[in-house]
Amino acid sequence: MSILVVGSVALDSVQTPFGNAKEALGGSATYFSVAASFFTDVRVVAVVGEDFPEEHLAFLKSRSIDLEGLVRVPGRTFRWAGEYGFDLNEAKTLETQLNVFAAFQPEIPKAYKESELVFLANIDPDLQRQVLGQVSLPRLVAADTMNYWINGKPEALRETLKLVDILLINDAETRQLAGEPNLVLAAQKILSWGPTSLVIKRGEYGALMIRKGGWFAAPALPLDSVFDPTGAGDCFAGGFIGYLANTMNFEEQNIRKAIVMGSVMASFNVEAFSLDRLRRLTYPEIEARYKAFKRLTQFEDL
Ligand code: AMP
Repeated sequence: MSILVVGSVALDSVQTPFGNAKEALGGSATYFSVAASFFTDVRVVAVVGEDFPEEHLAFLKSRSIDLEGLVRVPGRTFRWAGEYGFDLNEAKTLETQLNVFAAFQPEIPKAYKESELVFLANIDPDLQRQVLGQVSLPRLVAADTMNYWINGKPEALRETLKLVDILLINDAETRQLAGEPNLVLAAQKILSWGPTSLVIKRGEYGALMIRKGGWFAAPALPLDSVFDPTGAGDCFAGGFIGYLANTMNFEEQNIRKAIVMGSVMASFNVEAFSLDRLRRLTYPEIEARYKAFKRLTQFEDL
């Protein structure tokens, strides 16, 4: 089943203790689409400027990503600059330039209106709602956001949350969004605003899913080669929603597997800057790492 995603398509400048990337391919919709494209068809709604390199579009097309909803307009592409210290779990935003996204009023292509799965990747919550409102009858709506929008557009974000089934955010964002330091209480508060499930991404500590029925925890794979965590959250979402779209089974047991698939995709992405690891990723590697996750978490009673 196809997934419709709206989110940023960006040029990122990133500094980590292990190196840097300048104006490299990035953006929440970009990372999400490429990760999800290993499991299903993806349709992108986004905007880029005249300066967006053709080779990046060619790469997305090479992953069979549908770019009919990705428009190019006069102006500059969205840019984000960030830096990480030795604690790679925390990104420090140095600069956000919305550029062509500031005035983006998307009209989604006709074929996209029947999409059954929608991912509202990290972007202006008004824009997330504007796109969702054009989809006839989505069966599953998942969303992401970040401190920039939690601080900058809190009311608009609360409106979006009313329409979302699964919210995926990191632990700091969970506390910030709820205005509550205790993660359990923060999660319960957010679940009272609309989403039926909350997936909290905790970087190298894995992910937690909270639903009315209970909690599920997945670890992150201990890796010896972490270079750039940028996009890990979006790749997690791409693996997670991509797997759900591929199986179209929204039962608890399958959602748990989807969380592990999200962790698998995030674990690959952090191994190189920008999307460089996903460019050379193969499906057999994904399967092998999924099995490694299974081994990591399996135990029996003594
Ligand atoms: P992640 O590391 O998964 O949280 O996402 C990183 C990506 O989000 C980068 O490639 C950025 O281009 C993009 N990004 C950063 N800030 C924003 C923002 N305010 N709105 C939309 N996308 C953003």
